[in-house]
Amino acid sequence: MIKPDGVQRGLVGEIISRFEKKGFKLVQLKMMKVTKEVAEEHYKDLKDKPFFPDLIGYILSGPVVGMVWEGQGVVKAARKIIGATNPLEAEPGTIRGDLAVQTGRNVVHGSDSPENGERETALWFAGHGIVEWEAHMKPWLVE
Ligand code: GDP
Ligand code: MG
Repeated sequence: MIKPDGVQRGLVGEIISRFEKKGFKLVQLKMMKVTKEVAEEHYKDLKDKPFFPDLIGYILSGPVVGMVWEGQGVVKAARKIIGATNPLEAEPGTIRGDLAVQTGRNVVHGSDSPENGERETALWFAGHGIVEWEAHMKPWLVE
């Protein structure tokens, strides 16, 4: 998910591009204004953290872009492409390392496990599912 700061700062294309260029397949994409219910459900594991109200406020502060990407090792690789939670600790070359400075404005979210990827896809794209399509680049990416 591209967070509101990523959208406001004009980073949507740049962020999508990094996943596309890596070789992942886009199977769902939607710009949306999140409801409080969805934001709180999405981050329910963090509800006891002191920053939770700020986090929910941040996610509700403007439109976000939800995406679903598929590919070999996509969850782990996407977390690497995104970089550490604190952008000042994220490596150069990662999205957060290159494009952000603060944990509370770290431009992008990535699912941390395949199970959470499924859970978040069902939550964010309820009733939409994903788009099944054959990527013709596939034999050029995997042997
Ligand atoms: P992520 O998986 O790398 O996004 O990190 P977490 O799952 O630990 O936290 C989710 C999100 O909560 C982060 O991406 C930040 O936007 C926010 N967050 C985490 N820690 C803090 C914090 O200490 N302060 C604030 N303001 N936000 C935080
Ligand atoms: Mg997380």
